[in-house]
Amino acid sequence: MDKIEKHQQQPGFFKEVVRRSGVNIGLCWHCKCCSAGCPFAEAMDYLPNQALRMVQLDLKEEILKSSCIWICVGCHTCSVECPQAIDMSAVMDTLRQMAMEEGFPLGQPNILNFHKEVVNSIYRHGRTHKLEIMMRYKLGRREFFSDMDVGISMLSKRKLDLMPSRVEQPAEIRKLFTEDMEDVP
Ligand code: SF4
Ligand code: SF4
Repeated sequence: MDKIEKHQQQPGFFKEVVRRSGVNIGLCWHCKCCSAGCPFAEAMDYLPNQALRMVQLDLKEEILKSSCIWICVGCHTCSVECPQAIDMSAVMDTLRQMAMEEGFPLGQPNILNFHKEVVNSIYRHGRTHKLEIMMRYKLGRREFFSDMDVGISMLSKRKLDLMPSRVEQPAEIRKLFTEDMEDVP
């Protein structure tokens, strides 16, 4: 955002996100380590640290309409690198819930299908396999060549593994899922 107008700020939004997420967003000092490490940053309209700044500034509508809150897959890469131990995933999750509760249009069309693929990947491997998620999402939408530049860039930076890595006991992870997941392909 270039310039913030007073009327764009909704007082109380920052405190509400802190309360609901349980994350002290005020601790973020915008070192940008999260954005540098996020494997999906290049597909986002706002970088992870920018999203936090918008929350700090009470820019409710702008952030709840954004695509970045939907593109985040909660992989925790950013949290591992954060010197302030900010749980970005919990913040993004809270923002998504608030966006849906308040009827904001999804900042990324068909994104719920993408999140379904993320959950399916965790069910299969015990953790996310980003390349598989992207491929299955693209196949489902029959969009084979869109965002190729993003995918190639991520591959070249070694942010996409060709093969999935599995947790040692995937069955333990599967116990966290409901019976509805039993027929995941
Ligand atoms: S790494 Fe942590 S402190 Fe740095 S900008 Fe990101 S959330 Fe803020
Ligand atoms: S949790 Fe979200 S913001 Fe953080 S690295 Fe993963 S995709 Fe990026």
